Amino acid sequence: MHPDVMALVALEGEDAAVEALETRLRALEPRLQELERSRELAATALQRAKHALGAEEDKLREARARAAQHRTLQERNQKQLDGITNIREANAASAQLESARRMASDADAEAARIAARVEEARARAQQAELAVAEIEGSQETERTTIASERRAIEEELRHARMKRDGSAKRVNSSLLSKYDKVRRRRRGQSVFPLRGGACASCDTALPLQRRHEMARTGAIEMCEACGVLLYAAE
Ligand SMILES: [Zn+2]
Repeated sequence: MHPDVMALVALEGEDAAVEALETRLRALEPRLQELERSRELAATALQRAKHALGAEEDKLREARARAAQHRTLQERNQKQLDGITNIREANAASAQLESARRMASDADAEAARIAARVEEARARAQQAELAVAEIEGSQETERTTIASERRAIEEELRHARMKRDGSAKRVNSSLLSKYDKVRRRRRGQSVFPLRGGACASCDTALPLQRRHEMARTGAIEMCEACGVLLYAAE
C-alpha cells in the first residue's frame, strides 16, 4: 500500500476512535439528566409542602388573632354586665355576653382545627424533606460511577485526539483538507478501497485506465458517484 494511503486509512481509524469516545461521553448525559429529573421532582414536592405549611401557619395566626379579639369583646361585655343594676338592661347585656362567648369559643375551635392542619402540613413537609435526602443519598453511588466513567473516557479521548493529531501530520495537507471536508459531510467512514474495480461504498465501477493509474501512483481519488475517497487496495 502506498504510504499516503496507509497514513489516510490510519487517520480515519483514529477519527473513528475519537468519535466513538465522544459518543460514549454524550451517552452519559441522559443518565445524569434522569437523576436530576427525579431529584427535582422530590425537591419540587418539598417546596410545595413547605409552601402549604406556610399558608396554614398564616391562617393559624389570623385565626388566633380573631379568637383573641373575641375574648377581649367577651371580657368587655362581662364588665358591662357587672356594672349594670337595671334588670332589663342586664338581660340584654347578658344575651350580648352569651353571644360574645359563643363567638369566642367558635373562634377557638376554628383555631384548634387549623392548628391540627398545621401539624399535618408540618409532618408532610418533614416527609418530603426526608424523601429529598433519601434520593440524594441513593443517587450518590450512581453519580460517583458516572463521574469516574466520565474521567476515564475523557482521559482516553485525550490520548485518542493526540494520536489522531499525530496521524494527521503524516497525511499531506491538500489530501487532509479534502478528507476533512468529506468526513464532515458524511459523518462516517469516508475512505474506501476499490473492490473488484468498483467503489466499495456505492459499487460504481471505475474505468480500467484510472484504476491502473491509482494502483501505480497510490493516488487517492474521489468517487464521482458517492463522493467518498477511494484508493487502490491491490
Ligand atoms: Zn462511491
